[in-house]
Amino acid sequence: AKNAGRNTWRCYRPGMSELIEKRRALEADLEQAVENGDFELYLQPRVRCSDTEIEGYEALLRWTHPTRGPVSPVDFIPVAEASGKIIQLGEWVLAEACRILKTLPADKRLSINVSPIQFRQIDFLGNIEAIVAAEGADPKRIELEITESVLIDDDEGARQVLDALKRSGFNIALDDFGTGYSSLSYLSRYPFDAIKIDRSFVANLGVEANAEAIVRSIIDLGSGLGMKVVAEGVETIEQARLLVTNGCDELQGYLLGRPVPVDRIAMDVAGDVKR
Ligand code: C2E
Ligand code: CA
Ligand code: CA
Ligand code: CA
Repeated sequence: AKNAGRNTWRCYRPGMSELIEKRRALEADLEQAVENGDFELYLQPRVRCSDTEIEGYEALLRWTHPTRGPVSPVDFIPVAEASGKIIQLGEWVLAEACRILKTLPADKRLSINVSPIQFRQIDFLGNIEAIVAAEGADPKRIELEITESVLIDDDEGARQVLDALKRSGFNIALDDFGTGYSSLSYLSRYPFDAIKIDRSFVANLGVEANAEAIVRSIIDLGSGLGMKVVAEGVETIEQARLLVTNGCDELQGYLLGRPVPVDRIAMDVAGDVKR
């Protein structure tokens, strides 16, 4: 048994060191990437169920590595978080989002993703306000998407930051709702404008018998607390139909539109304005 254990370890070791090597290489390249302008924000529409108009867009970070090509945020965000680079990257995302806002019609909002590491910075609020002021953007047009992990570690501190952000005019959404713990107990204690139903629940609609009941409960909970409820990862008409039937406020997903470069949005916007 001992031997088998040792062999197993030997089997895994090359994989592990490759992984570590890959992370180290990514980390070094991340250093350069912001300066090189290798990052871009793609926008994905959020569509209102009531009138099927676009409420706003979620900004999703894209990295085109000079030799590797596109690298998924799923791969590089954790590396940027571990190295602390996410702070600088997050500041670039916010500034870039402010610049994009100027090219969108005044009634459209932009949502950006905020890493827990950013959120826990000492002067997160001060930094974010400084960037928005420098870019001349209106915080009311910006929604910050945070995840439940932000709330679990530091209840009171997190609530103060969120309250202050609200007072400054920012909108706040709880991302990936339902994937963390104790969702019910804390939801009412924080000033969320919106909750986003995680796409794992949406994916089960029409597949698992209980999925509709779960999604309906989340919608009722959010609506009951006065929050907008947004479903993410909507891929099929059947999912959309079940979400609308159960009172969901907004839909986001490939069915409504994939994340695309900003210049691809501009065309839709031009069409919007003409109408
Ligand atoms: P997220 O915030 O939950 O973003 C939604 C993810 O679902 C995006 O993946 C989006 O492209 C994808 N998606 C949208 N519609 C559909 C659909 O219908 N079906 C499926 N299967 N997927 C869909 P993406 O762009 O790869 O981003 C992955 C994650 O990386 C994001 O998850 C977010 O946690 C993180 N991320 C992306 N951009 C940023 C950023 O600027 N800052 C930070 N801190 N994190 C970011
Ligand atoms: Ca998000
Ligand atoms: Ca999400
Ligand atoms: Ca996610």
